[in-house]
Amino acid sequence: MPDRTPILAANWKMHKTIEETERFLAESLPRVADSGPEVVICPPFPSLKAAVERCAQSRIRVAAQNMHEEPEGAFTGEVSAPMLIELGVDGVILGHSERRQHFGETDEALARKVPAALDAGLEPILCVGENESQRDSDETEGILTRQIEADLAGVPDERLGEVVIAYEPIWAIGTGRTATPEQAQEAIALIRGLVESRSAEQAGAIRVLYGGSVKPDNAEELISQPDVDGALVGGASLDPEGFAAIVAAAA
Ligand code: PEP
Repeated sequence: MPDRTPILAANWKMHKTIEETERFLAESLPRVADSGPEVVICPPFPSLKAAVERCAQSRIRVAAQNMHEEPEGAFTGEVSAPMLIELGVDGVILGHSERRQHFGETDEALARKVPAALDAGLEPILCVGENESQRDSDETEGILTRQIEADLAGVPDERLGEVVIAYEPIWAIGTGRTATPEQAQEAIALIRGLVESRSAEQAGAIRVLYGGSVKPDNAEELISQPDVDGALVGGASLDPEGFAAIVAAAA
């Protein structure tokens, strides 16, 4: 089985000012810097520069939470990949369900955003997942298949392993309801199988994370599933101690 280094990514959403970011990192870096898993902090846009500067001498990487697919243009309020690169950012979350739900993010746009991020030198963290009614009506497989096929359509087969995928069932995000380890494993194995249908080699390399109410007390069980390569953590990543405990659980 290929050796895939786990990733623990902290999605701060619209939390933490620059000052709060600096305070978090001052507390957090000594706790997580020497850990085995890769650690990625995803603060809001205004805090990215401070996070990049604070993390510069450490193994912690920094990612944004969204970007536009064009490098520049008349897109008021948007930010492009070259702008993130200039800041020293390493990656970008794309297709988070909150962006799909509240800001009209589409699979068509993601099919352009994912290769644009890769081409610019950013590691995309692509989020996919079904909502509660889709799970209840046994549509999970179809939803994941449609999202993965559409969102990765513009990525050449030989670059699929450079993408990180986060399986985030919408019913588990911010709800305190976590997928069972078996549900996470099943969905993530399905996602890996979809990548395998394009390239067996890349399917062995691609990292697929679980996200949805990951906490210090459930992280280990979820991350130890054979196909689960880490976690995208929202609420529990806002507290340095809690986040360090999750990172330790993955080590
Ligand atoms: C997320 O928003 O990516 C997430 C997983 O949130 P939470 O951990 O709070 O469910």
